[in-house]
Amino acid sequence: MTPADSSGLNYRGRFAPSPTGALHFGSLVAAVGSYLDARAAGGEWLLRIEDVDEPRTAVGAADSILRTLERLGFVWDGEVAYQSRRKALYRAAFERLRLSAAVFPCACTRREVADSGLGTDGAPRYPGTCRDGLPPARAARAWRLKVEPGRVCFEDALQGRICQDLAAEVGDFVVLRADGFFAYQLAVVVDDAEQGVTHIVRGADLIDSTPRQICLQRQLSLPAPSYLHLPAAVNAAGEKLSKQTRARPIDECRPQAALMAALEFLGQAPPDGLGEAGLDELWCWAAGHWQRKHLPRCRIAPAPAGW
Ligand code: GLU
Repeated sequence: MTPADSSGLNYRGRFAPSPTGALHFGSLVAAVGSYLDARAAGGEWLLRIEDVDEPRTAVGAADSILRTLERLGFVWDGEVAYQSRRKALYRAAFERLRLSAAVFPCACTRREVADSGLGTDGAPRYPGTCRDGLPPARAARAWRLKVEPGRVCFEDALQGRICQDLAAEVGDFVVLRADGFFAYQLAVVVDDAEQGVTHIVRGADLIDSTPRQICLQRQLSLPAPSYLHLPAAVNAAGEKLSKQTRARPIDECRPQAALMAALEFLGQAPPDGLGEAGLDELWCWAAGHWQRKHLPRCRIAPAPAGW
């Protein structure tokens, strides 16, 4: 596929689900938001199965997600990409980082990092133990990207200006994991650049990853896409909908109901009768009436009852 710019389009979006389980309301919101934002702009919309984390991949989940999206009437451009088949790209990017000494091998276990202190957001912060060399008699496990002090900022199209001091809040972060798999942060940055993605619309549960991804884009001299982080749907206990929190799979037999709920969640106020319309009519209305200005600005929002 040619890059968005050279084909005369200036919008290429994508939906990038991790196949850890069936599509649920939380992931549907990201699919609908990214799809409509792309289609309303006359842009393309790619589908990428993020199965880079092979140990977390559930058998049959990728096919189930694709089937659900199809039944809901999504139409994607080009072939579906699978991260598990793109490892050579991640390897090449990693080698570039290694040759420029931007990454270093690290012997620390997850436990050691967790025990050595928390960043300002309460998540473990890597204290730099192996930055200047492995401790004696310790073997390399993962590889980490060196982060420099100072804030990394970006303008989110919905959430406004977001800044994070990576050194203070996260520390040097993993790009090649101890189990030999490339980290999501590296894979997503390489893929978005290689696929010519210009606009990233996804859930705000990923907003804390964005400064790491921008840091990697800069290290690899890759173009910076624009970002819009939609509110992430939470259950009544305030937990993000996911397989772990037992989010219900989308019922493919009631596609209109699922899409209407997602449109309402995204503030698009679909007219009452639209739920009884055919899928083509529903999508036609939704793309024609998509308004970023009606999106709720919060980073989390309760999923509607029953979802
Ligand atoms: N694969 C990630 C997820 O399902 C989304 C990554 C992204 O959109 O950048 O949460």
